[in-house]
Amino acid sequence: MKELICIVCPNGCRLYIEQTADGFKVSGNLCNRGEAFAVNEMTNPRRTVTSTVRTVFAAFPVLPVRTSSDIPKEKIRDLMSLLAGVTVQKALGIGDTVVKDALGLGIDVIVSSNELKEML
Ligand code: SF4
Repeated sequence: MKELICIVCPNGCRLYIEQTADGFKVSGNLCNRGEAFAVNEMTNPRRTVTSTVRTVFAAFPVLPVRTSSDIPKEKIRDLMSLLAGVTVQKALGIGDTVVKDALGLGIDVIVSSNELKEML
């Protein structure tokens, strides 16, 4: 039996997952989304990643970014290494692409703040 905290909503239900002959048995969830979360955590855990990248602008040296959708949890470290080498050269705003098809995963890394664009 594995124990997890559901992160789908602020309730944070404590989930218990048991492998059965047919798949997984989940308990502790107040709704079906918790069951889906638990099964995904056991089979293909994914996360939306938020981070920052450097910019060339002294007045705004780091820019908040996020992945356009969830990526496999085991790829987070590789993505962070990739982002450590990125420097934004122009005024970008919310939704603008910083890295296209990051790590070949079919997702982009996009800007999650308008502050840089509004400042320049
Ligand atoms: S099981 Fe449902 S109610 Fe509980 S934390 Fe997850 S999403 Fe929220």
